[in-house]
Amino acid sequence: PASPKVIVVTGANKGIGAAIVKKLLTQPHTPGAPTRIIYLTARDPALGHATYTSLLTLRSPHAIIKFHALDITSTESCEEFKKFLQVTHGYVDVLVNNAGVAWKGDAFDEEVVRGTLAVNFYGTIRVTTILLPLLRATGREARIVNISSGSGMLVRLRDPALRAAFRDPALTEEGLLALLKKFQTDVSADRCLEGGWPKQAYAVSKIGVTAYTKVLARRLQNVQLAGKGKGKEEDKVLVNACCPGWCRTDMAGENATQSAEEGAELPVRLAVGDVGGVTGGWWHEGVVKEW
Ligand code: NDP
Repeated sequence: PASPKVIVVTGANKGIGAAIVKKLLTQPHTPGAPTRIIYLTARDPALGHATYTSLLTLRSPHAIIKFHALDITSTESCEEFKKFLQVTHGYVDVLVNNAGVAWKGDAFDEEVVRGTLAVNFYGTIRVTTILLPLLRATGREARIVNISSGSGMLVRLRDPALRAAFRDPALTEEGLLALLKKFQTDVSADRCLEGGWPKQAYAVSKIGVTAYTKVLARRLQNVQLAGKGKGKEEDKVLVNACCPGWCRTDMAGENATQSAEEGAELPVRLAVGDVGGVTGGWWHEGVVKEW
């Protein structure tokens, strides 16, 4: 039989992340498909372990759940988890970057910007970069799913030149990091609006996440085309970003229109379902859309 599919979900002690783990655990098993090992990860080990325990009864011979601590703002924590996965499995099939933060209301200052980008943008890049060698070691198609947000649509940027810079097909990771650095220096210099940015740390962090998705997808496609894995499943990593929709969680509150379970549907499809081979896609309401 095929080796188990190893799946990692970040920020999964509650909200959409916990719902993603639950759905991955309870989806009907397709005969012949590999079994699943699903890692519920959380920055707070006590919170993560409590959710893990509450989901344990849902495991089956085809899908088992495990817990591991993971704080995506900590290089040490990410490296420790990588080492653990390397020794235990030697590969990872799917990384779901769900962990995120949002300050309440329209709070906006240097500290809010720093704290929001630290998790949503830099944290997502950190854990992805550190786990990437394991995603490229599966010998079969792997996936990265970035939970972005509809509030990270490019129209949020007031300056057309800035929009063009984020959309540039030649944008590199270095260039993207420079753009986000510029946002931070503009905020510090109280030049946010002149710089073309909205006064919304969360929106800019998610613009960064979707841009990163496209940059990484292009880089991995190029690596695959140039390398000896040309045209083969091995080495192929599909990277997609999505909006889960407006969901009732601690982040979005009770007035949101969907449950966390409904919000988990699209991320789970991008993680293990049919995506038609798409990589670098921005998915919203079940389909690939113009960003
Ligand atoms: P919640 O606030 O309910 O959950 C966020 C999760 O991320 C928590 O488990 C939290 O852990 C975790 N987290 C925060 N910082 C870190 C970190 N440094 N390392 C690891 N985990 C961390 O939010 P949602 O479930 O609503 O959000 C999930 C994702 O979906 C986020 O990326 C969010 O931006 C996105 N999203 C949500 C929407 C909504 O309507 N709910 C809409 C669009 C996008 P802890 O409990 O310890 O704080």
